[in-house]
Amino acid sequence: MAVSAPHAARRRMLRAPLSALSLDALIVTDLVNVRYLCGFSGSYGVLVADERSAHLITDGRYAEVAGEMAQGVRVHVQPLAGIDEWFRRFFQRGGWGRVGFEDSMSVAQLGLFRRRMRGSGARLVATEGVVEGLREIKEEGEVRLIARAARLADRLMELAWAEARPGVREADLSRMIRRGAEDLGARRESFENIVASGPNSSRPHHQPGGRRLRVGDPVTIDLGASLDGYCSDLTRNPVLGRVTKGFERLYAVCLDAQQAALKACRAGRRGCEVDAVAREIIASAGYGDYFNHGLGHGVGMRIHEGPRLNKTSETVLRPGHVVTIEPGIYVPGVGGVRIEDLVVVTDGAPRVLSRSPKELTILPA
Ligand code: ZN
Ligand code: ZN
Repeated sequence: MAVSAPHAARRRMLRAPLSALSLDALIVTDLVNVRYLCGFSGSYGVLVADERSAHLITDGRYAEVAGEMAQGVRVHVQPLAGIDEWFRRFFQRGGWGRVGFEDSMSVAQLGLFRRRMRGSGARLVATEGVVEGLREIKEEGEVRLIARAARLADRLMELAWAEARPGVREADLSRMIRRGAEDLGARRESFENIVASGPNSSRPHHQPGGRRLRVGDPVTIDLGASLDGYCSDLTRNPVLGRVTKGFERLYAVCLDAQQAALKACRAGRRGCEVDAVAREIIASAGYGDYFNHGLGHGVGMRIHEGPRLNKTSETVLRPGHVVTIEPGIYVPGVGGVRIEDLVVVTDGAPRVLSRSPKELTILPA
């Protein structure tokens, strides 16, 4: 989907960090950042932005469409031969001195750019998270896209619940979710879904395998959809047929922690404070050692981005942050539970984008 209006505004926002870092220009090589700043979504594109202008350099495959995708940007198609010399002249014409590069640039790419800049008067300066920092605060249009991806995740969860029954293998359920994502109109899953049943549910990053679901299993299902460049993330834990007292208690504690953290998740709070709210509830129920990951993470064009909500996060939450709230308790031998919602931070209660039911659900078996 072409959203051309916000790109120019985003490039204007780039001026503040450029000036703070005394940079004349920034080379953007991370394709997600390139897309964020100019709308180009091809597989090769380098954006060079300075205070006044932006240049998109791509190759012949995109000669025709690059201009349509990236509006308000000068598009250059690099030649097949003599690329180094072409870049040297490009940097020379820009008249730049200090040119930032992104920390995600590979060592090989960095070597290339060093060679290409030789004799141009420009020199490379390392930067960290410049565009990622802008991306953390979502515009209304971005929130709308994330909300659409979240609705798709809700529908995928519904589909997974309908298909989960004794005898079905984790890997089969996982495949159904993957296919369902495409059938329902997602570009793809926003990450490889997790289906962890029975004893496997105590492993937060279990890879769905050949185990067949059984009556009495808790089933952790963590999934998301990617739509128009934006991701969603959702975890639920239904139980098949019947539930043990042990799991019921685990679930109640996790849900309690999740709901308390949701209440605490608002502008002005630090990431570590919101994390602590959930962690204290889980610890005081005696499961402190079994919540072994952070409370949540930012979600946007990438499934994991800033801000982080964990023990050490000093990030102060702001309206427009989109984060997950996903406490988990994983007790080997008993099972695991993780309840994850996607929310938009506001000055008051967060706007919860996930709508899948959260009360302990016992699926028919
Ligand atoms: Zn997740
Ligand atoms: Zn997550």
